[in-house]
Amino acid sequence: MRVLILGGTGEARALAERLHLSEGVEVISSLAGTTRNPQLPPGLVRVGGFGGPREIAAYLAKERISIVVDATHPFAAKITENARAAAVEAGTTFLVLRRPGWHATAEDRWLRVASLELAATAVATLPPGAVLVTTGRRHLAAFAADAQHHYVIRTVDPPEGPLPPRTTLLTARGPFTYDDELALFREHRVTALVTKDSGGPMTDAKLLAARQLRLRVVMIDRPPIPEDTILVPSVAKAEKFIKAHWS
Ligand code: NAP
Repeated sequence: MRVLILGGTGEARALAERLHLSEGVEVISSLAGTTRNPQLPPGLVRVGGFGGPREIAAYLAKERISIVVDATHPFAAKITENARAAAVEAGTTFLVLRRPGWHATAEDRWLRVASLELAATAVATLPPGAVLVTTGRRHLAAFAADAQHHYVIRTVDPPEGPLPPRTTLLTARGPFTYDDELALFREHRVTALVTKDSGGPMTDAKLLAARQLRLRVVMIDRPPIPEDTILVPSVAKAEKFIKAHWS
C-alpha cells in the first residue's frame, strides 16, 4: 500500500514517521519546495509543484497511490482543491488532515476577518502603535500603504514584495515559547497582532501572550475545505483511518 502525504507541516512529518514504521505501507511525502532547508520526513520525498490537478492524477496512477493524505497547512487551499480533484479523477481515496482552528476566550480581544486584505483594512483603523504580523512571507503588500503603524514582520524566510515604510523584519523559525513571545511583544512595544487561524499548539504561544497583555488580535479565518471530503483532526486519527483502509 502506497500513501502520498502532501506535506509542509509538522503533522505531515509526524504521520510519515508513524507510517514509516508500519509493515506493508510505503510513504511518499510531497513538499512544495517553497521553504529553504525544510525539515525532511523519513521515507521517500518528492519536492516541487505537480503542475495542476491533471498532473497530480497522472502521478497517482503512475505511482499506484492508494490514499492521498492532504496534510498541508490550513491556508494552502490551492493544493487541497487540486489534490481533491485529482483523487476524484484517479479514483484514489482522499483524506484531509487538519488541526482544529483556535477559539477566542472572554479575555481575548480578537477581530476575525476573512482575508489578509481585510486584515490590513482592520489594522488601518487601529490606534497608532506596533503591529506584529505572522502571516507568512507572501502577500504582505496588503499592508504596504500603511505609514501610520510600525510593523514587526516575523517570517521563516525573508519576505517577498513591497512592505510598509516602517518595518522591522525578524526571521525566525518557531516554535516560540510563551516567555519568548512576551519578551518579543515587550521589546518591540507591540500593540496588535495579525495572524492566521493556523490552529494547533505549536504557534499558539503568541495568542496566550497577547491575551496576557490585552493586545488586539486580527485573526484571519481559514479558507473552507472542499465539500464531501473526509476530514480528520489529528495525526492519530489519520493513522487509524489509513490502517483501517488497508486491513
Ligand atoms: P497553495 O497555495 O495551496 O499551493 C500553491 C501551489 O504550490 C500548488 O498549486 C502546488 O503547485 C504547490 N504545492 C503546494 N503544496 C504542495 C505540496 N505539499 N506538494 C507539492 N506541491 C505543492 O500552497 P501554499 O500556501 O503556497 O503553501 C505551500 C506549502 O507550504 C504547502 O505544502 C503548505 O503545507 C506549506 N505551508 C503553507 C503555509 C501557509 O500559510 N500557506 C504555512 C506553512 C506551511 P502545482 O499547482 O504546480 O501542483
